[in-house]
Amino acid sequence: MPTAVFEGRGCVLDMDEFWVSMGRRALIVTGKTSGYKSGALEDVCDVLDKNGICYCIFDSVKNNPTVENAYEAGLLAREFSADFVVGIGGGSPLDAAKAAAVYGSNPELEPYEIYDGAEDNPLPVVEIPTTAGTGSEVTQYSVLTVESRKTKVTVKGDWLFPKAAFLDPRYTKSLPPNVALHTALDAMSHAVESVLKRNNSYISEPIALGALEIIGRNLPELQNFPCDDDVRAELLHAAMLAGMAIAHTGTTIVHSMGYVFTYFKDMPHGMANGVLLPKFVEFAEKAVPEQTEKIYKALGISSSDEFACMIRNTGLEHPVVSEDEAVEFAKIAITNKNVPTAPWKVTAEEEAEIMLWR
Ligand code: NAP
Ligand code: FE
Repeated sequence: MPTAVFEGRGCVLDMDEFWVSMGRRALIVTGKTSGYKSGALEDVCDVLDKNGICYCIFDSVKNNPTVENAYEAGLLAREFSADFVVGIGGGSPLDAAKAAAVYGSNPELEPYEIYDGAEDNPLPVVEIPTTAGTGSEVTQYSVLTVESRKTKVTVKGDWLFPKAAFLDPRYTKSLPPNVALHTALDAMSHAVESVLKRNNSYISEPIALGALEIIGRNLPELQNFPCDDDVRAELLHAAMLAGMAIAHTGTTIVHSMGYVFTYFKDMPHGMANGVLLPKFVEFAEKAVPEQTEKIYKALGISSSDEFACMIRNTGLEHPVVSEDEAVEFAKIAITNKNVPTAPWKVTAEEEAEIMLWR
């Protein structure tokens, strides 16, 4: 893993030498509110000011950003001649920051050409998560919405790994409780999918199971969000570990089905994954029982029924998906490249069944 990870309260402010080593001009990429409400933007501005680093702020990243939205941030990186990019926010701004860094160092690159790679390496990226979910701060993925495909498509490559990630639990305190729950379920989904994927390895598996142990232990605490700093620090750490696991393995069909839910039903990313997990785990239990057993052990449970209970007990609410919708969505999701990596040979009918869990 090439990304340096710094954790703890105030870690952004303690690292003058690091910031100076990044360059003289920074583009900060964040959402409309996340940078401000979390307090992370203020800390970053303070540390950059203190070290004489100029910056400009792009604070218009939308949730589930489109390629065009990320490109806008990239145009600003070019215009401002940024030396590096700082992403602040949930997965949406973190992913947009990675893409902006590619556009920033490749002045000729058109929006959709990013999927074919680029001539020059991206500008170095520093990522500061304000949700404990996506793990994007340590992955080589930038997940962007492609309107013409009616889903999200991932830009990936080792060139996208952030240079550094700063995890400060103070930044997740302002999260709305439902976003805290959804993002925790996203991290859980990364870890579960990683353990169940065909390319799971003896390196990725202990990392994913470590994440699941922390998430399983802390999930009930989310009922009392914002909890205390220690709980939020553990969840940030777990989300980062789950990100490391998927940096090795990638995700599988829960994510590809979830992208379609997000596009058509406007479901937040983590909610979509949370709804899809129980039936997916039930199918996986039949196909690869020894792997699901490891997941149950890490979560302190013993069956797919208990797993479904665990998800229900979080109070996760989600929009109804009709049978007709599930059939239509499954037709799109089944074409995703990650379908053959699932733990069994999945059919569109099975995907529709997974989508109908309540
Ligand atoms: P998000 O879309 O980044 O944010 C969800 C909502 O939470 C937004 O309204 C955001 O506000 C708000 N928010 C974030 N932090 C906050 C804070 N500390 N206080 C108050 N509000 C805050 O959600 P996410 O679940 O973290 O990221 C989802 C995206 O990440 C999806 O596009 C998904 O596909 C992607 N993803 C990427 C990877 C990867 O490896 N790259 C992995 C999984 C998922 P603002 O709108 O103001 O920002
Ligand atoms: Fe995810």
